[in-house]
Amino acid sequence: MAIGGFLKHYIVTCIRVTQVGTLGFFILNLGCSKGFEGNKSSVIEIASTSQGDPKGPETPESVSIAFKQGLSLESAEVSEDVEIVSSNSSEIKDIQMSLNGNTDRKLTEAPFIYRVNLVKKESPIKVKALATFKNGKTAEAEITVNPQLAGSGGIDPSCMTNASYDACIFWKNPISHKKSVFKPAITYGQDVATVQSYGIKLKGLSSQSELKSINFTVSAKDGQKAVPDSAGTYKYKYAEDSGKSFVAQLMAYFWMTEEIEIIKKKSGRFYAEGKRVPVSSLDKSVKNNAYWDGQGIVLGEVTIPGKPSEVALGADVYIHELGHGNMQYAAGNTAYRSCGSAAGCIGAINEGQADFHVALVFSQNPVLGEHFFNSMEGMPGRNVLQNHNLTGTSAFSSGGGEVHNMGAVYASLLWEMYVHPAMSHLDFSKMFSLHLAMLTNSSTIANSKAVFESINIAQFDGKYKTVIDEVFKLKGY
Ligand SMILES: [Zn+2]
Repeated sequence: MAIGGFLKHYIVTCIRVTQVGTLGFFILNLGCSKGFEGNKSSVIEIASTSQGDPKGPETPESVSIAFKQGLSLESAEVSEDVEIVSSNSSEIKDIQMSLNGNTDRKLTEAPFIYRVNLVKKESPIKVKALATFKNGKTAEAEITVNPQLAGSGGIDPSCMTNASYDACIFWKNPISHKKSVFKPAITYGQDVATVQSYGIKLKGLSSQSELKSINFTVSAKDGQKAVPDSAGTYKYKYAEDSGKSFVAQLMAYFWMTEEIEIIKKKSGRFYAEGKRVPVSSLDKSVKNNAYWDGQGIVLGEVTIPGKPSEVALGADVYIHELGHGNMQYAAGNTAYRSCGSAAGCIGAINEGQADFHVALVFSQNPVLGEHFFNSMEGMPGRNVLQNHNLTGTSAFSSGGGEVHNMGAVYASLLWEMYVHPAMSHLDFSKMFSLHLAMLTNSSTIANSKAVFESINIAQFDGKYKTVIDEVFKLKGY
């Protein structure tokens, strides 16, 4: 079974340049990137003209500071690290950062690393930097960051008539897109035109005539194989999709392609890339379920009475299923059976890490199964935002060793490390991917601590020991 999430990413949309010292003249300039494309980091530059400055030699002629990562484009959540690299940081005494007007942190040593806390609001946020130099001068700059949806598409009510898109689908799932449930639930052929407005470009197609790439071949056992329309695009309305399930196929192709791209960008690797995974977006013999079968993905039918629909309308489901594929290509075939104790087992790790794939793609609200359950809360028991206090012991005593039940503990453990204030999201993404390749049939949730510790030492100079200790303790290990 599978499940999913919901996240906003942020892109930088504007800059403001300000400020001067009394004698010297410093400008702190936050560079700005727009749009979905590109991969340029935001740059702060501090320039000095130091006219008439009696302290002459102490004044930097020019200092540049670059946001090494974060606050930059599509996968740049505001929650990611900002490493400020200065060509002359010895002249800077400190940099004070503020978020929406509230002083957040003072950075006193080079390299100046600023980590914005997880921001869940959808309104724009303002990040401000105030630099103080050793000669007493100051410079400040402010940058406004607007929330954007995860993924390379964009919501456009005119999607169907806008030639810049190949298809119009749902952002994550119809409920996440609409931000409310459907009453009654969606069924085949329902008119949901107002919600089907996430405009996308299809990437990686091997040919223009089918949804096939080096990663996936998408079809529908109980539908028709999706083909382009007369314009060569795939603009199909869900209201006219009954019996064809083209929209579900487009959802699966697009969101799993995004999954590989987003996770690769965050962690550096995706083990199931290029594996030509066959995906059936609708198999009505599979009720209220979906699965990875060791080679491919099969998505079933949600059977709400009188309102059946494709499981595949929820991207969270196959992002989870491809997570099983990713672990298999990392760790090989592992056992899939219930856990005998609260220590957990490899089957539970497999389920929990698959859930965490959804959190990596939609990390600001990683709810799983909203469409599946026609609920904003998603699947009961699997919401990492509600499982902070869930421990291995409490899960095992209430629900036993079933893999999804114990998997919720592992998903929570991964999530808590990811969002820990002392953890870099990108570093944890790398740690997570690396750990997949080190799992074996003997792995348990309890002994996975040693796996994270070894990666921490090998890759991060041991700086995350406290995070690992705290979170494993929180989960009762
Ligand atoms: Zn699963």
